[in-house]
Amino acid sequence: MNLTTHDKITVRKAETSRLNQVDFNNLIFGKDFSDHMFECDYIDGAWQNPVIRPYGPLTISPAAKVFHYGQAVFEGMKAYKDDNGKVFLFRPDQNHARINKSSVRMAIPEFPKDIFFEALHKLIDLDRDWVKSGLGNSLYIRPFVIATEAGVSASASSEYKFMILLSPVNAYYTGDVKVVIAEQYSRSANGGVGAAKAAGNYGAQFFPTNLAKEKGFQQVIWTDANEHKYLEEAGTMNVFFRINDSLFTAPTGDRILDGITRKSVIALAKKDGIEVEERPVLVSEVVEAAKNGTLKEIFGAGTAAVISPVSTFSYREEVFELPSTAGGYSAKFKKDLMDIQYNLSEDPFGWRYEI
Ligand SMILES: *Cc1c(COP(=O)(O)O)cnc(C)c1O
Repeated sequence: MNLTTHDKITVRKAETSRLNQVDFNNLIFGKDFSDHMFECDYIDGAWQNPVIRPYGPLTISPAAKVFHYGQAVFEGMKAYKDDNGKVFLFRPDQNHARINKSSVRMAIPEFPKDIFFEALHKLIDLDRDWVKSGLGNSLYIRPFVIATEAGVSASASSEYKFMILLSPVNAYYTGDVKVVIAEQYSRSANGGVGAAKAAGNYGAQFFPTNLAKEKGFQQVIWTDANEHKYLEEAGTMNVFFRINDSLFTAPTGDRILDGITRKSVIALAKKDGIEVEERPVLVSEVVEAAKNGTLKEIFGAGTAAVISPVSTFSYREEVFELPSTAGGYSAKFKKDLMDIQYNLSEDPFGWRYEI
């Protein structure tokens, strides 16, 4: 497999910018896209023809395998601008490693690191005005790969398209998140694809999540598929539980997405001397802690919302309210992470990456 390319990225600039058609103060998450996008094809066993061109539709065969077998993976990352106009990514090497890990699981060829980074640099630099400064504003970056070979035989595609889209977003206010602990449906199983950012994982969650929404909740906290005994993830976030002053989160493995926010929270907690245990977390121990008052916080961790505190959870028709999170760990980790992302603090771990 050819993991490097000597092709230069071709750049075709948009004739006019759509910047002034966008209301940057009232963005709907993931609805607007910047002027340009990146595209690179895998044909004849090699990634080739890397190009940045105006954002717009694709022409793809209706027989392309992605439409029939869901052979597709994606990533989610963000670019942040400080008050001096400098633009930063947060641990982008991790996203590159992860899209390749997801790809391997989905029998998709890995994408070369050099083109991944060159594409990010060139694309973000070209659409730099789409990154707005101000805490909470960012440019959401969506790399993804789809199987493009035409043919409905159920086997891995021989052709793929790797793309990067950019979408300006405001702070992601989740408000009070109410979650349902899953008792029937599952998002992943041992030996499955839960650890991959594979497109189908998300499509499969919409139906059970809609059932939770009908009951007035926003998200499902997924439990292990075998017994529904262990708490695993919330929607597109990893999930942390604070009992007394210790944090608990499920260990990564087949069923858990290895989140970059998750591992950053763990590193920050350890630096602050907060005890963190990565181990299977029982539903029963969290319910017990909620009943005896030792459950202080539950929060989700992921790129889109950074940290998302849970106010309420339901389990077996019982509803549990959590204490107010003001002054809790969740607010602290959110601030610490955003201070690093927006170049407002030191970066002791070397997580910032300037574009
Ligand atoms: C993307 C994702 C996360 C969060 O990962 P980050 O790298 O922190 O953005 C967590 N769980 C699932 C299922 C995800 O898809």
